Amino acid sequence: MTIFEEKDKIGGMLQYGIPDFRLPKTILDRYKARLLELGVKIRPHVVMGGDLMIDQLFRDGYRAVFIGTGVWRPSTLGIQGETLPNVHFGISYLARPVSYTIGQTVAVIGMGNVAMDVARTAFRHGAQRVMLFQRGSKSPASDHEMEYARLDGAEFFFGKSIQRITPKGPVFKASVLNENGRPVSVAGEDELVPADTTIIAINQGPKDKLVNTTHGLQASERGLLIVDENNMTTRAGVFAGGDVVHGSLTVVHAVENAKNAARAMMRYMEENE
Ligand SMILES: Cc1cc2nc3c(=O)[nH]c(=O)nc-3n(C[C@H](O)[C@H](O)[C@H](O)COP(=O)(O)OP(=O)(O)OC[C@H]3O[C@@H](n4cnc5c(N)ncnc54)[C@H](O)[C@@H]3O)c2cc1C
Repeated sequence: MTIFEEKDKIGGMLQYGIPDFRLPKTILDRYKARLLELGVKIRPHVVMGGDLMIDQLFRDGYRAVFIGTGVWRPSTLGIQGETLPNVHFGISYLARPVSYTIGQTVAVIGMGNVAMDVARTAFRHGAQRVMLFQRGSKSPASDHEMEYARLDGAEFFFGKSIQRITPKGPVFKASVLNENGRPVSVAGEDELVPADTTIIAINQGPKDKLVNTTHGLQASERGLLIVDENNMTTRAGVFAGGDVVHGSLTVVHAVENAKNAARAMMRYMEENE
């Protein structure tokens, strides 16, 4: 069994998303050692759908393939200013915070769990003030993640609709909210929030390399892989699970999917011997 991994280390979001202060990476090192002991081979720095194709795996004798490529494409806001040098994506920032010069004042667009990790990481890399902005009246983050960010000093601003980003910081208008606290329109004057860096942390979607390069592999409109109850994709012998199937969720969901797929892959290989 071989793992093909695009990055330097295995572990996905556990390695490159969840910050060290929440998940010590020594735990992942132990998992890697165990995998090697079990005879699993690892090929780092291989992009499937780029360097190698899934069709080539079957050519070389692999009898079943599992895709667990996650959601690594940051969602964009589609507003002016996203390409400015003072603007970054949260998911990329978390992968290697030391690569970024963020200054002292950081504005985070979005208020989900990823935004909380971004805020807490920014404080540990020099930020003195971190402000998080949400269009509606509620945060999608879990209460405890929000509380930890608050304890670190994060400030939360609700009902703020981002209009554009400037070299001096993001510009908002006040959201007009419906009875459920959801934004329906905007009102009032533009408000510039001075910030050295603006980090966009609104959502992630899957990259489309594998769908574009693999014959018979189908995805939903959101780019998520379509699977059946056995986690088999629309291509026979190719299984998938985790975030690339259900969108960004949790480790437990990804593991449940992977176990279901592993059982089905064993059956598939026995039946197609
Ligand atoms: C900041 C952040 C914090 C989170 N916190 C929590 C938490 O506290 N608790 C929790 O349960 N969940 C958390 N999650 C969610 C959790 O990390 C994911 O649901 C889980 O990691 C999904 O696992 P996966 O295997 O599907 O994908 P991933 O973990 O994304 O792994 C995908 C792997 O595939 C590799 N890859 C991608 N494309 C290719 C390619 N073309 N070729 C080769 N390799 C490729 C990637 O490099 C990566 O190693 C968090 C997510 C983020 C972003």
